[in-house]
Amino acid sequence: MLHRTYIKIGNQLKKDIEQNIYKVGDRLPTEREISEKLGVSRTIVREAMVMLEVEQLVEVKKGSGVYVKNTPQNLKYQFQEKNLPDVGPFELLQARQLLESSIVEFAAKQANKRDISRLKEILEKEKVLLEKDLDDYTADEEFHLAIAEITQNDVLIKLQQQLWQYRFNNPMWNQLHSRILQKDLHHLWIEDHENILVAIQKKSPSLAKKAMWQHLENVKVKLFELSDVEDPEFDGYLFNVNPVAVGI
Ligand SMILES: [Zn+2]
Repeated sequence: MLHRTYIKIGNQLKKDIEQNIYKVGDRLPTEREISEKLGVSRTIVREAMVMLEVEQLVEVKKGSGVYVKNTPQNLKYQFQEKNLPDVGPFELLQARQLLESSIVEFAAKQANKRDISRLKEILEKEKVLLEKDLDDYTADEEFHLAIAEITQNDVLIKLQQQLWQYRFNNPMWNQLHSRILQKDLHHLWIEDHENILVAIQKKSPSLAKKAMWQHLENVKVKLFELSDVEDPEFDGYLFNVNPVAVGI
């Protein structure tokens, strides 16, 4: 049922490990080399690498590369393909950036006093959770969902809920997040959320759109940094600036 491109590429690399083309301890070819050889984007290769990492087959050594840690035949626990998310973390973020920046643009025109005080309350809750240093994203989710609810459009609200479901229980997402200091990031995200709220208070669709775009851009850049093992110059070309967002 699952024919995700990153899974196909991940399985191909898995087969190479199984057939001893790459042995335990070997460094895998670079992201660029694999991408050129297999004719897929480097983002897809990166997602495939995270998949192998989740499956305990490879180990990422920052600044050095990706090394074979286990062979599939040696692993006692065989990872089931059905346990893999059908959406990779980077393509999810790209979709969120496009959709949520438009949702907030629309919401900014309609927000009333009650909506704004609700967003303020959620933001306060986020700050309290941050002080407790909890790895708790419920207030983050609530904030994004509350924005969608301002539109009173059930399709947009359902889409927003679905975006969040893709993110939860996504082992690849968790793998990337396990490399970060949650508290540092929460501070960044709260600042972003404040900017979004200010733009909604000003009832400025263009500022709100820009603030949401920038928020998810910051998330994306952070995750790219964290998933990058060999090439700090990676330009994230898949995520070229949305022409719609240019100049706002
Ligand atoms: Zn957020």
